[in-house]
Parts: sequence; C-alpha cells; structure tokens
Amino acid sequence: MASSPVARPDPPGAPATMHAVHCDGTRAAALVTHPAGELLLVEPLAPVWAYSLLGMAPPGTHVSHHTPIDTTPLDAAYLFTAQHETIENTSLRFEPGSIRLVVDREAPDACHLPPNPHRSRGHYWRVFAARAVGELGKSPTMRSTRWVNRSELQVLANRTISWTLGDVTDEQFHDTPGLRPVWVWWLHLLQMIEVDPRHALHALAVAGREDQR
Ligand SMILES: [Zn+2]
Repeated sequence: MASSPVARPDPPGAPATMHAVHCDGTRAAALVTHPAGELLLVEPLAPVWAYSLLGMAPPGTHVSHHTPIDTTPLDAAYLFTAQHETIENTSLRFEPGSIRLVVDREAPDACHLPPNPHRSRGHYWRVFAARAVGELGKSPTMRSTRWVNRSELQVLANRTISWTLGDVTDEQFHDTPGLRPVWVWWLHLLQMIEVDPRHALHALAVAGREDQR
C-alpha cells in the first residue's frame, strides 16, 4: 500500500469554487448497471495527457466540479455529482430506489488538477451503485461510452495490469485502453474483478503518479 498521506474532503465551510482551480480532494463516481447486469464505462477526451486520465472508468469527477461544496451538504454533493456526471456524459439516469453507497474511503490517487497547497494529496471517494434508466448516449467530451459484461471488465483489468507492470507501453495503452488504474483497486475491493492483490496494490501506486506531458 502506498504510504503517502491522503486527503480528507474539504469540510462544508471550506473555500471551494465550481470548476475548481485546485483539486478539492474528493471524487464521486457511479457504478451504473444495465438491466442485463453490464457495467457502464466511459473514457473522456482528455484535455491533457496525464497518467491519472488514461483508461476507461465509471463516470465520476471532483465534487466541486458540479456543486459548490462550501454551500452544499457534502453527502448531498457527492450523490448529486455522481448522478450529474452520469447524465452529462451518457444521458443515463439512476433508477430511483436502486442507489447504494458501495465505496466510502480515501485513496492516494493523483488527478490532473493542481493539488491544493494547503493539504495532502489524494481523494476521499464515494462510489454509488445504481441501475440505469434511459438510452446510452455519448457527450462530445467523451472518447467513448459503453456497456461491459464481467468477462470484458476482466479483460480491461488485465490490460491495465499489463500496462502497470510495463508489458504494455503508455502509447499502446492509450490506443487500446484498459481500466483506469485506480479502478482496478476499487473493483478488486468490490470483488468485481479477479486480480492478484499485489497487482491491485501496484495499480493503486501507479494511480498516484502525477506525470503529465
Ligand atoms: Zn483531484
């Protein structure tokens, strides 16, 4: 496990702005499933080349991207962000009554935003599982949006492991991406993929790389 200190979210009352200049230390995300059980993944068209943005992932972003977390109760802001990011990227909505909180903990992952100089790096994550309502779309900011079944999800996780172990180059991974590394960690913890725990930990360490180019 990476031993670097990780961040707590800014508490209500802390300064924050919409589309924050600095990382706010939060991540809200959604594990959205199709009635047939497939999982929704998206890949943004990244404005910058950053390790933290490589790969496919469930929809998610910083809480302050959509909500002013200085004025919104944090619990509500996380759920609102997960829902809004899903709608904005894919047009899908959450089925009322199907929403469950499945991840509520911190991780030392990096992001493409400059760190807040007043606190340590990483994010406090909340991930919500929900069933999808609507037809899958794709916003202009997305490179792709898709449903994946369990075996496809495993293939994507294996691709990421190969990349993090150096068997696949950065360019090859960009051209044919697997999962974003932090998601190998979360989906390993949620027992949605089968990977060597050491490889899951290594993927988490790679998720903490801050390189951009
Ligand atoms: Zn961040």
